[in-house]
Amino acid sequence: MKRIGIVGGGQLGRMIAPPAQQLGFEVAVLDPTPHSPAAQVTEHHIQASFDDAAAIRRLGEMSDYLTFEIELAHDEVLNELTEQGVQVNPSAATLGLIKDKLSQKEFLAKAGLPVTNFRAVTGAANVREVAKEFGYPLLLKARRDAYDGRGNVLIEAPEEIAEALERLNGRELYVEQFVPFAHELAVMVARDARGTIVTYPTVETVHRNNICHLVRAPAPIAPRVAKQATALAHRVMEQFKGAGVFGVEMFLTENGEILINEIAPRVHNSGHYTIEACPVSQFEQHVRAITGLPLGSTGMFVPAAVMVNILGERQGPAQLTGLEEAVALSGVSVHIYGKADTKPDRKMGHITAVGNTLETAETSALKARELITI
Ligand code: AMP
Repeated sequence: MKRIGIVGGGQLGRMIAPPAQQLGFEVAVLDPTPHSPAAQVTEHHIQASFDDAAAIRRLGEMSDYLTFEIELAHDEVLNELTEQGVQVNPSAATLGLIKDKLSQKEFLAKAGLPVTNFRAVTGAANVREVAKEFGYPLLLKARRDAYDGRGNVLIEAPEEIAEALERLNGRELYVEQFVPFAHELAVMVARDARGTIVTYPTVETVHRNNICHLVRAPAPIAPRVAKQATALAHRVMEQFKGAGVFGVEMFLTENGEILINEIAPRVHNSGHYTIEACPVSQFEQHVRAITGLPLGSTGMFVPAAVMVNILGERQGPAQLTGLEEAVALSGVSVHIYGKADTKPDRKMGHITAVGNTLETAETSALKARELITI
């Protein structure tokens, strides 16, 4: 039996495992957490940190195909394993480039892809200088380890610069011009080993406190704009090496311009709806891509799907209530990630509701969300 190794054992790994196993692969995950969400459903678990070089080498030795579900994966070790002949996808070079948000932006801009203005900064005087050019508000961002908006601070006036720098003290930083977007969009895109690229429908993402709260699929925007977004995601994918599924997050401005916010070199929260709404989910697609199988259909077979995240609201052991009432709602699927402890804004699960219209799907998803506590 061939084995897929995944660096990272969170909810994404937990959702990659079932289609991998369905296709006859074993799955091994590397994650520091005992009984991590993915380790609960996979055959092998190496309990080690994401930058433990020896442990990643062990995972590489025991795997026929190696991938990652978190940007914290150690790209230098993955590169070394690639040179030794292990099949790592997406490529370690792509991971290295994307995990540094500034180098990612520089790379996209150099490739002629539309991004907001950005600049590396080192201190308060430097931020003030850039603000003169970009204007306020500005977003101060940490270059690394900054997913789910952790590592972003909004600066609305010069008086806020010092405190923003203090909050991100000790990290390498850059600033971005604020984009007054009308909608946030995302497109999941996949490439197989032969270079074929496919895109899923354009979706709308709604963030709260920098964290994904809700996803509407398809995005309630003009079909022409949705098509522009998928074409842009296709162009992005042409720039990055390696097979696999990527998430492309974008801003749609009031005047119809689309800018790329950021790229995730992995399956993504904005693609969870594909489990219920598409013949081949983003998770199966990723497995197909990294194991050399042909890609599958990316269309939706339901008119609409809405995904709502179940984020933690308190600190302490997780305790699920309301599941019975939530799953009793028509068209509702509940996913619980099996995390032992909850904390504010921690992703504990998600709900996808499918329906004939976005409105009915959203009503059901939000109703289910209200019923659940964890
Ligand atoms: P990030 O993790 O950097 O993608 O940021 C998380 C969220 O913060 C995004 O999904 C947006 O809602 C918001 N955000 C990030 N960068 C910008 C920007 N330059 N302008 C406006 N909003 C932003």
